[in-house]
Amino acid sequence: MIGHNQPMLATRYPCARWATMSRRASVSAHRAADGAHGPAAINRNRSDKSELRRSSPRLRARRRSAAPLVTSVKNPRQPQLVISCHADTGFRSHRLIRENDAWGGHLDNFAGVHAVMSAYFSGRMTSDSLRIELTYGEETAMEGACEVRKTLSPDDVVVVVDVTGTVTERDITIEKCRSPRMRRFVSEALEGLSYALYEGCPDPIADADECDVYGEELGNVCFLGIPCAGGDYNAGVVSCREKSIRTASEALVRLAEHFARETHARSSAPGEADKPRS
Ligand SMILES: [Zn+2]
Repeated sequence: MIGHNQPMLATRYPCARWATMSRRASVSAHRAADGAHGPAAINRNRSDKSELRRSSPRLRARRRSAAPLVTSVKNPRQPQLVISCHADTGFRSHRLIRENDAWGGHLDNFAGVHAVMSAYFSGRMTSDSLRIELTYGEETAMEGACEVRKTLSPDDVVVVVDVTGTVTERDITIEKCRSPRMRRFVSEALEGLSYALYEGCPDPIADADECDVYGEELGNVCFLGIPCAGGDYNAGVVSCREKSIRTASEALVRLAEHFARETHARSSAPGEADKPRS
């Protein structure tokens, strides 16, 4: 899997340098959430609280204003498309390498994060109804997803992005798509893309993911999988097609665009704004 003449990315942590870089990345992500335009990419990190205590009152105020919206009956908000992608891994060291048209290495969940952030940095995700959550603790007890779940509204739609062991000729998979409304939404948004749609979870490697956490609260949840081959992605190096990551990224952009169109159409329908939310 790891060649000698190929450029290779290797990480090893915990170490001071890695910890410092992690904190910086987290602050930048929260600053991005301060902006009035476009979606927010939020990186939930255990160090946030202690960093917040150390920071200035002005920064604390800014950070509070960037907190995710919490809904109540008195203060309903517009539905959101929430893309949830775990940024932790189950490994202490990592290697990634490109081989022809494939990527090899510890892809769980670098492949997912890369697809999500490629979509974000494409500049095509301009909707205020989109929220990107890079979660922590998925590999242990899904703590990040549990935190995000508290911020959800009944009309929100959640797409979990992760690797999958499902064997398919298609570029990506949509799994755990149990709600008919969700299947219709996905089919409309991803028309023309190469994907395989499943109501259940055909992944022979593992079937527990953040969908299970969000599914306790919402019906409109599904899993967008990047197919990996070559063994157990939890145990070590595997490979995925480069095209799968590109398609995953394109699919996320299209899901966000379609969600924004649907939300706008609903809210601008005559009398719709006055109707009570169910
Ligand atoms: Zn994963």
